[in-house]
Amino acid sequence: MNVAMFGFLHESNTFLKAKTQYEDFRRVSLTRGSSMLERWSGARHELGGMIAGCAESALKIVGGMAGLALPSGTITAEAYERIATELIETLQEALPLDGLLVALHGATVSEHYPDADGELLRRIRQIVGPTLPMVVTLDLHANISPAMAKLSTALIVYRTNPHLDQFERGREAALLLRSILAGEVNPVQALCAPPLVLPISCQYTAEDPARQLYADLEKVLTWPGILSASVAMGFYFADVEEMGASFVAVADGDLALADRASRWMATRAWERRGCFDPRLPDAASAVKMAIHSRNQPVVLMDIGDNVGGGSPADSTILFQEILSQGGRNAMVILCDPDAVQNCVAAGVSNTVTLEVGGKSDNLHGEPVAVRGRIRSLSDGIFVERQVRHGGWGGGNQGITAVLETGEKHTVVLTSTRMAPMSLEQVISLGIHPEEKDILVVKGVVAPRPAYEPIAGELILVDTPGVTSNNPARFKFQHRRKPLYPLESDTPFSTLV
Ligand SMILES: [Zn+2]
Repeated sequence: MNVAMFGFLHESNTFLKAKTQYEDFRRVSLTRGSSMLERWSGARHELGGMIAGCAESALKIVGGMAGLALPSGTITAEAYERIATELIETLQEALPLDGLLVALHGATVSEHYPDADGELLRRIRQIVGPTLPMVVTLDLHANISPAMAKLSTALIVYRTNPHLDQFERGREAALLLRSILAGEVNPVQALCAPPLVLPISCQYTAEDPARQLYADLEKVLTWPGILSASVAMGFYFADVEEMGASFVAVADGDLALADRASRWMATRAWERRGCFDPRLPDAASAVKMAIHSRNQPVVLMDIGDNVGGGSPADSTILFQEILSQGGRNAMVILCDPDAVQNCVAAGVSNTVTLEVGGKSDNLHGEPVAVRGRIRSLSDGIFVERQVRHGGWGGGNQGITAVLETGEKHTVVLTSTRMAPMSLEQVISLGIHPEEKDILVVKGVVAPRPAYEPIAGELILVDTPGVTSNNPARFKFQHRRKPLYPLESDTPFSTLV
């Protein structure tokens, strides 16, 4: 059986001014055919899982293309058309096909297509027709549109946040495709998208209230006739109509069963909506708690500057607060290519006075003056061998400088944005993060696998920014109304 595999993965934060370009994909990963298979074979990613699942099912991947970029702003119309056109050309070259595997994010927005994922599936269907089996995987932060559910044969969403099960979901997609092609199953799916927004601080799947959503999902998986079930927690940094949580069930030939299962999960979540409480300490009180804690190092999660959600990685709000309150021995990572250049010009071991961070916009604090010794300069490349959120096997943060200040703060200055998914990001620079008192980490849930093993205490902080925790902080224009908790008297309904 011949199948093609495609990936188009981007989490689009529509509140960012800067748009995402074709080059942003090319810089991270944009591959076709054999180079795609080489890039993703063995990766703890859904594309790696799809390749493994195909190999064990005797499905031959005869073509494909996969592109991903770091979470960032809306994709330009030009970049979207270019990638979609290349993808469709690759699909045409791979014909005839027995089936398709497609890895999408589900919260992808382009300038012309707020539902960029649905639009891509529509274009694929135009080529392959309405019935060719097409199994699609999605990120847990997908905003699933009715079009995505209608155009795909089955949607399979990651079940863990931090995302550690991507490989398993990709493999599951390939095995389901095999069963379809063997004539063993006839999947039909139902989507139930209640008017519900879940604050990102409540999206850690190992703890309630999110854990309960997945306990319900596990129950549905035991119902006779159910082939797959999914919960997508949504991504409210994308201002689109389908923004919000959604529930999918895939049943074997029984649409009423799929509908009942997705509605049951959605209703159970809706009944517990009051448990998803976005209230958290602000920067001043969180820093005070960290300074007085006996459990060092204290990890302060900078939710407003969550790099994995598309933010600029240069917020100084927590660092400024640490300086103002007289904190010592903190580690802060800031993306600041200009400051790095100044360090390169000054040279290792020299002392510099710099304004760092807070330069990308006016939402993430002001630049902060620091005086420190340049401890190191490096190429910023690191390798991660453990399973980490997003299947990250390492990264390249560009030329990187490490400054040590008189207050024993370690300030890491990077040339490109890097989400803190791996401790190797700093260990590779000669830093011992476990010896610091305070670690400022720009994320919410995704950095946990890296930082939890060394954290004495972990505090989620309600910092302002483009990835702020409280959905009420955003000025939406395109979302549906009403949505809970933005409108407190919202009645239950589902997006169709
Ligand atoms: Zn995600």
